[in-house]
Amino acid sequence: MSFLSSLPGILAAYPLLSTLGLLLIVAVLGFSGASFWAWVVVAALALGGFGAPLWGWVVLGAMVLLFGVKPLRRLLLSGPIVRTVKAMKLLPAISETEQVAIEAGNIWVDGELFSGKPDFKRILKEPYPDLSPEEQAFLDGPVEAICQVTDDWEVFRNRELPKAAWDLIKKERFFGLIIPKQYGGHEFTPSANSAIVVKLMTRCGPLGTTVMVPNSLGPAELLMHYGTQAQKDYYLPRLASAEEIPCFALTEPGAGSDAGAMTSSGVVFRGSDGELYIRLNWKKRYITLAAIATVLGLAFKLRDPENLLGKGENPGITCALIPTHTEGVVLGKRHDPLGLPFYNCPTEGHDVVVPVSAIIGGPAQAGNGWRMLMESLAVGRGISLPASSAGGIKYAARVVGAYAAVRKQFGLNIGKFEGIEEPLARVGGYAYIFEAARRFTCGGLDSGEKPPVITAIAKYSFTEHLRKAINDAMDVLGGAGISRGPRNLIAHGYFGVPINITVEGANILTRTLMIFGQGAIRCHPYSYQEIQALMNNDVKGFDAAFWPHIGHVVRNLFRSVLLSVSRGRLAAAPVGGATAKYYRRLSWASASFAFLADFAMGRFGGNLKRKEKITGRFADIFIWLYLGSATLRRFEAEGRQKADLPLVHWSMQYALAQIQTAFNELYQNLGFPFRGPVLWWSRLNTLSSMPSDETGGRVAQILQQPGAERDALTRGVYVPEDVNEALGRLENAFRLVKASEPVLKKVYKALRAGKISKDRIDRMVGKALELDIITREEAELLQQAELAREDAIQVDSFTQEDYMATSAKGKGGIRQPLSDPAMSN
Ligand SMILES: Cc1cc2nc3c(=O)[nH]c(=O)nc-3n(C[C@H](O)[C@H](O)[C@H](O)COP(=O)(O)OP(=O)(O)OC[C@H]3O[C@@H](n4cnc5c(N)ncnc54)[C@H](O)[C@@H]3O)c2cc1C
Repeated sequence: MSFLSSLPGILAAYPLLSTLGLLLIVAVLGFSGASFWAWVVVAALALGGFGAPLWGWVVLGAMVLLFGVKPLRRLLLSGPIVRTVKAMKLLPAISETEQVAIEAGNIWVDGELFSGKPDFKRILKEPYPDLSPEEQAFLDGPVEAICQVTDDWEVFRNRELPKAAWDLIKKERFFGLIIPKQYGGHEFTPSANSAIVVKLMTRCGPLGTTVMVPNSLGPAELLMHYGTQAQKDYYLPRLASAEEIPCFALTEPGAGSDAGAMTSSGVVFRGSDGELYIRLNWKKRYITLAAIATVLGLAFKLRDPENLLGKGENPGITCALIPTHTEGVVLGKRHDPLGLPFYNCPTEGHDVVVPVSAIIGGPAQAGNGWRMLMESLAVGRGISLPASSAGGIKYAARVVGAYAAVRKQFGLNIGKFEGIEEPLARVGGYAYIFEAARRFTCGGLDSGEKPPVITAIAKYSFTEHLRKAINDAMDVLGGAGISRGPRNLIAHGYFGVPINITVEGANILTRTLMIFGQGAIRCHPYSYQEIQALMNNDVKGFDAAFWPHIGHVVRNLFRSVLLSVSRGRLAAAPVGGATAKYYRRLSWASASFAFLADFAMGRFGGNLKRKEKITGRFADIFIWLYLGSATLRRFEAEGRQKADLPLVHWSMQYALAQIQTAFNELYQNLGFPFRGPVLWWSRLNTLSSMPSDETGGRVAQILQQPGAERDALTRGVYVPEDVNEALGRLENAFRLVKASEPVLKKVYKALRAGKISKDRIDRMVGKALELDIITREEAELLQQAELAREDAIQVDSFTQEDYMATSAKGKGGIRQPLSDPAMSN
């Protein structure tokens, strides 16, 4: 007797077990995303096994015909769905500029995280590269040198970079970091470009910005990808040597976030010499480096009324290079970006005439400007601003740890207070996460990936967390963070934060529109295919995407429920040990995210992108899935160092807690059943709570202890040797204070034992020395430490005259700090 013919008997004998067995099989099929035909086989076995009546078989047969036979499925299901969706206007309206933005670049690990079933083995195989010896030598040589000659306070006082810095910019070709060697550039990787920006930013914001801008979206980048050979040969060597100073002008008074709404115009005409020219008129603002630029990259709308270029009357957004000495170009004015002394300017153009060969890529690229910009932004957004923010966060970590160990209040170093430990832990945790994400993102870009959603995640999350880290640092430093002068360690970084938040896609828009709004369309395995098919009335294409999409939703529903019930234990982890659980929890979060994203797309249809409070929460989940993955990648890449575990635990628990908060807020706003039972369950069964006080305390300790761990966490920060410089002075005090702590302990032990009596610290030290409780060297060390501590906590003060010299009355003169910091007391 065969197994199949005996199946009904077996099932009838054990009804409960059989039902449970069937449920288990269904769970396995759903969880693994089994094919339609696997479901059919199991359904047939169940019908046969449980002795189903004829109608059961009829239903199964009908399902097989309807869903399994493609021509029938297209005729009876897919076709009517396409027609209904179009009739009910459920399709999201995608403008041409939006379509170009969505299509720019490619999908990288974002596709994994959006899938609901991320392959962490693949993510762990993604590069986490080091710099080449040549790149490292540049960082240790010219970058170190330019940092040494640039004094941040002097730059702010003089409102310009020193001549020595400009000389090095030219000599060492700082404007040619990304330009190929054949054109005189360095041809560095995104990783190296990023590491250079990190270091420069930690020395002086305006220096970092000045170097960063020509190496990000601008004439060089555009020429390298789209320029004609003649344009490359002419401009690239001159840009690399800073003989030409570039800027790129996109933003206008009426076109900020909505840059496609620009009104700057160019009209093609034939000149009296028979050649083709463009007459340009523009009004741009916020353009970095414009006042000193010799070549202005301009984005404008091109019209060609006589169709002289053969691209119709309105070729559209076009990019061209305009030499700034051309008649009609208006430059020279400056904005004042929060007092940061870098060039940021308006510019106008009045009937500026250039040959059509000024179009980047020549006349053939007329009308392709928007595509060029979107493709370049897809990469650029992941390098410069994330680097400057990661630099700022690491710098904040170095400063707050040292300051908390040096500054004493209530007889204790303030870092010993739990209230201070909290911000210290946050800054330390962010330093670990964002350095991980910086290097991981750059690794992807180094290997040629151009992931616009990941780079939007990087731009948004790095700059937002710089804001948080700097705010925490300000709190820890108290008045010392607020009082400006050469001793101040943090105020100029604080001023710069909103600039990072605003440029290259202001953050609110980046979070709500780009990361999830466009990300959902782009990273989802099927949705863009479906939208394109719907737009083209392509029933076959729609059918090919829609039904696998249904399978995808079913699988993610099963995964979400089962991973939630098992707290992620059913997901595979690519590694063992202390971090395995985090991979499982990220898988769990990814499954719930993917299912919920499909639910939201189904529920809101084309209106989803207007539901920005919803898309913002989805973006938060996506962001932390990525940052969490990068953190785990870093831990593996750095050899699973046990000493890093407090940082990894803090970072992963923080990441998962952020995801949990976003889920709860989504459930709260998505109606039944999410608002009721799902939210209740989600609050009960959290992915993670926030890191414990103990974990935070360990991270805070890392920041307050000189040595390898702190150095690794803040690697890349420029630390001056000179103890007369703000950070050099603090570092020196920090080292001495920490080195003298064991000696201090001996003194206090003697005090507790009644060998010496309570007095001023210098007197107690003298007494301890007298009684041979400490040696002379130890007493000297303590004395040095106390002097260094005293010096490190001083702030600058100014005479009334010097202070007023910066006022309008004082004709904006330069104010001078007093040379004796004690005057500030
Ligand atoms: C210091 C500095 C340097 C710059 N350098 C350059 C440069 O070199 N070249 C250049 O071309 N430009 C430059 N810019 C311009 C910069 O890119 C723009 O400031 C930016 O695009 C935002 O435009 P906006 O300031 O007009 O803000 P707006 O567009 O007015 O935005 C205001 C707020 O509304 C939000 N918002 C807008 N639309 C939406 C939406 N659909 N959904 C949700 N929120 C939305 C934004 O996120 C923002 O928070 C620079 C700006 C600054 C401040």
